[in-house]
Amino acid sequence: MSTSVSEPKAATAIRIADVCKNYGDYQVLKNINAEVARGEVVVICGPSGSGKSTLIRTVNRLEEINSGGISFEGQNIHAPMRGSELNKLRSRIGFVFQSFNLFPHLSVVDNVSMSPIRVKGVSADVAHDKALKLLDRVGLADKANSYPGQLSGGQQQRVAIARALAMEPPVMLFDEPTSALDPEMVGEVLSVMKSLAAEGMTMLCVTHEMGFARDVADRIWFIDAGEILETAPPEDFFKNPRHPRAQRFLADLR
Ligand code: ADP
Ligand code: MG
Repeated sequence: MSTSVSEPKAATAIRIADVCKNYGDYQVLKNINAEVARGEVVVICGPSGSGKSTLIRTVNRLEEINSGGISFEGQNIHAPMRGSELNKLRSRIGFVFQSFNLFPHLSVVDNVSMSPIRVKGVSADVAHDKALKLLDRVGLADKANSYPGQLSGGQQQRVAIARALAMEPPVMLFDEPTSALDPEMVGEVLSVMKSLAAEGMTMLCVTHEMGFARDVADRIWFIDAGEILETAPPEDFFKNPRHPRAQRFLADLR
């Protein structure tokens, strides 16, 4: 049996350094500096319009930045690169949208197996088997041959999570994954996210579900008007928010 002399230090998965972004004259992200460690679960919260979606979208380059840099596993995400390189990079950063974005004309199992086949060159049989396992994991083994339109919102969002996981990404980004759902379906999606976190997935989640933030996050980033004003473990953030705007944000939730 081999034992290592010293535990490796928590490695950085995502590093955001001095990131600024403008939409025309409007500065939506103001000098953002933040890191996500491997295995860490970060919840980004803040008022509507504060730049949460823009920030998380810059991490897999769905949005360009004006200055600064973002690295993922040491790779500069915003370096000049070919479309094929960018697709490869994106396939390693799972992204779950508020609006599911499933392909309506493909069955559930085909939605989940498509990217491994197309982007990774996995054989159809192998990708199909893997997709079935992932659907089982999100509680939807019996829906493999259904079409997205036949599923509830909560079920569609769980398929979207399985589809992202099919690429075996080391990191998952979530942008308000439960905001479009009827209240009774929020729990089933959060519980899939919770189980992912428990398995050690590195996660960056924009969500208004403060119960999830409290229970699952290692750290909260509070963002307002394009600035990260506070980062803290949830127990500190919810009990003793330091920044007045964080205090007001939490007071308004109650
Ligand atoms: P949040 O996700 O926190 O609600 P967003 O990142 O979506 O905030 O938006 C932050 C600000 O940037 C908002 O004022 C929004 O109107 C603006 N914005 C977002 N996307 C665009 C865009 N494509 N063009 C111009 N302004 C945008
Ligand atoms: Mg948003």
